[in-house]
Amino acid sequence: MQKRPVTDDSVVKADVLVIGAGIAGIFAAIEANDLGADVTLITKGLLGQDGAATWMAGYGLQAALYPPDSPEIHAQDTIKAGRFLNDQELVYTLTKEIPALVRKLNRWGVRYRKENGKFVMWRLPGETYPRVPALARAGQYAGHEYRRVLTKEIRRRNIKVLEDIAIVDLLQSDGSVVGAVGLDIRQGSLNVFKAKSTILATGGHMGCYRVTTSPCATGDGSAMAYRAGAEIADMEFADFYAYTAIWPPITVGEIWPTAFRYELNGILYNGVGDDFMRRYTGAKNVPPMAIQREVQEGRGSAHGGAYLSIRHLPANLIRNFLDQVGGVKWLERLEAVGFDIYNDAVEVAPAGLCSFGGCNINLKCETNIHGLYAAGEIAARREGAYTTAGNSIPLCMALGCIAGRETARRASEIEIPRIDEEQVDELYRNMLVPMEREEGLSPIQVKQAIQDILGEYAGLVGRTKERLEKGLSEIERLRQEDLTRLSVSAKNKKFNLEWAGAITVRNMTDITELIIRAALTRTESRGLHFREDFPEEHPEWLKRIIMVKRGEKVITTIEPVTFPYMKPPATGS
Ligand SMILES: Cc1cc2nc3c(=O)[nH]c(=O)nc-3n(C[C@H](O)[C@H](O)[C@H](O)COP(=O)(O)OP(=O)(O)OC[C@H]3O[C@@H](n4cnc5c(N)ncnc54)[C@H](O)[C@@H]3O)c2cc1C
Repeated sequence: MQKRPVTDDSVVKADVLVIGAGIAGIFAAIEANDLGADVTLITKGLLGQDGAATWMAGYGLQAALYPPDSPEIHAQDTIKAGRFLNDQELVYTLTKEIPALVRKLNRWGVRYRKENGKFVMWRLPGETYPRVPALARAGQYAGHEYRRVLTKEIRRRNIKVLEDIAIVDLLQSDGSVVGAVGLDIRQGSLNVFKAKSTILATGGHMGCYRVTTSPCATGDGSAMAYRAGAEIADMEFADFYAYTAIWPPITVGEIWPTAFRYELNGILYNGVGDDFMRRYTGAKNVPPMAIQREVQEGRGSAHGGAYLSIRHLPANLIRNFLDQVGGVKWLERLEAVGFDIYNDAVEVAPAGLCSFGGCNINLKCETNIHGLYAAGEIAARREGAYTTAGNSIPLCMALGCIAGRETARRASEIEIPRIDEEQVDELYRNMLVPMEREEGLSPIQVKQAIQDILGEYAGLVGRTKERLEKGLSEIERLRQEDLTRLSVSAKNKKFNLEWAGAITVRNMTDITELIIRAALTRTESRGLHFREDFPEEHPEWLKRIIMVKRGEKVITTIEPVTFPYMKPPATGS
């Protein structure tokens, strides 16, 4: 068996190791760096060109910049949207941080639209007051703007950035996390990192679903934290984007049809021409769930979603609108494949957008393991059961900032830890197993099998005790039979993305199991977690589900949520 020598030269050392370079990781790296810590920032792609969800953000972020709005009202809107499952102390802490961070983005060069020196504010659904500072350029370009500015700020500070490194697992010593190991995709080698503090900022896990807007979000950070013994919470909750394009094929996964629905009052039709949203009233008027239900009941569009039509509008109005929102490129691309937007309907379906579950953190972004922090979409407790548009980026950014501040403080208090060389060797041997296996199942086959299980048994519709139990037994079978047969056919080590894929499917297996377990435990419906056998929201379920790995067992705890600021309507006030 090969042994990997760990020499002092081959180990990257840092005060703060930040894993993930989306908005949370970048804010954490900048804050820790500016407070004097030695930071290493890692991404599994190229900085600014990885699959970070941040670069895909559409309309922007919420920030309570001017009265009568305030961080308190922002927090209240967040808690109402979260169906009172958020950690209220955490939400109040984050919304207070956000306005200063938006002013920082403005100073760094994000181009906001201003009138008389003031930010022009937009209102998205769920906001008491207009709370989204509009960008100077109209359209869904927020992510592109953040990318331009944030990557520039990282480079301006000379922060050490290591690219194309897929972190595989966390290193532990004496009960603390002391760093991580990763696959250097370019070199095909194992990299070892030791750090006083490690911040997981690896984003969410909606890439575990087949239809998704963020295929790279495979829950790597939550899975490695879980394997290391960290508490994982809120896994049953997530957001699905109702208006993700699924047809024509050149648009698959894109979210611009949203503008057709919201701004042009586009009409949703099912496969038999029914304007079906009119049938879904009250609590059932949730577009992603309604579309999925139509599909499940055999009334989907030709490619498994719904038709989104703007045919009722005159062609010149549509053209003018696209011109104003910078959407002419969409039109040109559709025309290039012979799609007539004035007469044909785009097909849309709900796609995984943003997850709310992950590491169970405290107000300092600390997990229950010393030395391990989590920030961004990977952090649980922030959104509760659901969210409002434009609220994820600001919460992730504030979490990043807090994690950076806390880890910089810690860096001045402790010494660089020692790493356990035997653990490194063991992780290296495990990484090589699918490379050494001559035949078996390819990572892509196993990935598809995981996505089938998640979609079939724990998707947007159809969650019942029987089906979730079946899903759990399926994923347990996959773990025993398929994961142990995982084989990488290409044996070259450099640039072997199939090998990197083998690492990812192990994470996806853990995440899928945790989603199913949490959905099975919560015997009520809340947010987009809909149990067909428990279709109502119940006040006795104002509780958080927390899971932790102990040996080969998963221990589930149900923790009551507290209400220091706002009481849920069912319990008075
Ligand atoms: C299509 C789309 C539109 C959205 N629009 C909005 C919006 O308008 N407003 C809003 O508020 N929110 C929006 N969201 C949600 C928001 O973008 C995300 O919640 C947020 O950006 C998450 O930031 P993050 O830094 O936590 O993670 P990400 O931005 O996803 O970054 C994760 C980082 O971790 C790295 N990484 C992952 N695994 C590993 C590993 N194993 N090793 C090394 N690095 C790793 C990735 O390479 C990446 O750099 C949108 C999301 C999507 C998908």
